[in-house]
Amino acid sequence: MSDIQTKTDVILIGAGIMSATLGTLLKELAPDWNITVFEKLDKAGEESSNEWNNAGTGHAALCELNYTVEKPDGSVDISKAINVNEQFQVSMQFWSYLVNSNLIRNPHDFIMPLPHVSMVQGEENVAFLKRRFEEMTKNPLFKGMEFSDEPEKLKEWIPLIMQDRPADEAIAATKIDTGTDVNFGALTRMLFEHLETQNVEINYKHSVEGIKRTKDGLWGVKVHDLDGCKMEYHTAKFVFLGAGGGSLELLQKTGIPEGKHIGGFPISGLFMVCNNQEVVEQHHAKVYGKAKVGAPPMSVPHLDTRYIDNKKSLLFGPFAGFSPKFLKNGSNMDLIASVKPHNITTLLAAGVKEMALTKYLIQQLMLSKEQRMQELREFIPNAKTEEWDIVVAGQRVQVIKDTEAGGKGTLQFGTEVVSAADGSVAALLGASPGASTAVHVMLEVINKCFPQHVKEWEAKIKEMIPSYGISLMQNPELLHEVHTSTAQILGLSKSESLEAAGHSVS
Ligand SMILES: Cc1cc2nc3c(=O)[nH]c(=O)nc-3n(C[C@H](O)[C@H](O)[C@H](O)COP(=O)(O)OP(=O)(O)OC[C@H]3O[C@@H](n4cnc5c(N)ncnc54)[C@H](O)[C@@H]3O)c2cc1C
Repeated sequence: MSDIQTKTDVILIGAGIMSATLGTLLKELAPDWNITVFEKLDKAGEESSNEWNNAGTGHAALCELNYTVEKPDGSVDISKAINVNEQFQVSMQFWSYLVNSNLIRNPHDFIMPLPHVSMVQGEENVAFLKRRFEEMTKNPLFKGMEFSDEPEKLKEWIPLIMQDRPADEAIAATKIDTGTDVNFGALTRMLFEHLETQNVEINYKHSVEGIKRTKDGLWGVKVHDLDGCKMEYHTAKFVFLGAGGGSLELLQKTGIPEGKHIGGFPISGLFMVCNNQEVVEQHHAKVYGKAKVGAPPMSVPHLDTRYIDNKKSLLFGPFAGFSPKFLKNGSNMDLIASVKPHNITTLLAAGVKEMALTKYLIQQLMLSKEQRMQELREFIPNAKTEEWDIVVAGQRVQVIKDTEAGGKGTLQFGTEVVSAADGSVAALLGASPGASTAVHVMLEVINKCFPQHVKEWEAKIKEMIPSYGISLMQNPELLHEVHTSTAQILGLSKSESLEAAGHSVS
């Protein structure tokens, strides 16, 4: 151990979108607090938050069919979609506050307007989509959504998908123009650049190896300085485990009872990326289809226009797969090392329950490029193999825990905040809807861990997020105000979007 020993108010472990968001919120609410960040890689936003490691969908439930459930009587339950949409509005307001206050600049560097489309094939699916559309358009959150099963209309919306299709194919889509493509990697980097100007100490190439409660009630964090090849010891009153797939291991190291009986199951992802710019230019939307039977919700196939490195790209996927690593830059021992005496029965129960999922993931992993092209051709019938390359996306670690509804060893597909009873440490686990709802989730961390400050911070939170604590769905006037102002500040309104298209396809 070296003689480096420091004391700080807050330690954030990991430099992804979650730590970036929590750090930025805390700096606005408590500017005097000292914050230190440790990141094991040499830059911010290099794991799941990186633009090539996730799909960049601003998840507002405008097109993702897995957020709406068909009930046995044929009606459509949209409650999950409402939740996800309300949470995304919180992110949009916070990002607008940051741009408006000049804390970050050039919103088009991280967010672009892009129609969100749901597309289905087959009579039954078409009928479902129509019922879903009717239910959703009763709600002000989904105002502006259109439905069509007319080939001519669909050719206008999704020309690349409609090329070379049999004329009698049952196909339908909904489209809404207020969708977005978000470059979460760029946003993460912008937030960390801003934090650096706010005296936040950011240590790259610093891997956290241990975390323990000290005698005086603080948290002691053992850090490996990878460049200097030495160990350091830092203490803080509050620690956030924002290590993505690495959070579970750190949570286990804290020894807090709330972290027991929880396991993780890694699901890897692959995208196909188009290398022909002529094809790329024929598509302008995020088009989500329906998940295959037995597929986990995060592997719903989608064909996405993306704005990455100032260039328009076209990505299809994700293809799920299995890897024992919990981080893309992780170790093949991650899964085994996460098995502890307190979670082994939970994991074994999940293993028995989720045989079908394991089989599905292994099948996905074994797919050849040509088999992947066959799945792509359900979207683009004339897709050419030589025009598509495979890129490896990020790892997601799904939470496994015992729940009342699902019983022992239930696989969770959402995000979970696990915190100590005294609020001195919190971990973020899980990955869906993920980065899009980072602001909502980090406000949850603040509410759980700093309840004694929330009253005094409320006015500032409302300044940053005018709808804080209010349901937008039930307040259509506020919803309209929020939509108008965020679209204008983030450059997402119609006139701005034309300019944006020019800006980015340069
Ligand atoms: C294939 C895929 C598609 C996705 N699509 C979307 C999407 O379309 N929309 C959306 O909103 N979300 C999406 N997500 C989810 C989203 O990417 C994640 O929810 C989000 O990026 C998680 O951010 P994070 O900050 O928690 O983790 P990360 O971005 O993974 O950051 C964690 C950081 O912690 C560091 N770290 C780990 N262990 C340690 C340690 N011991 N010491 C120091 N540092 C450490 C890592 O190096 C990393 O930089 C997708 C994810 C995947 C994998």
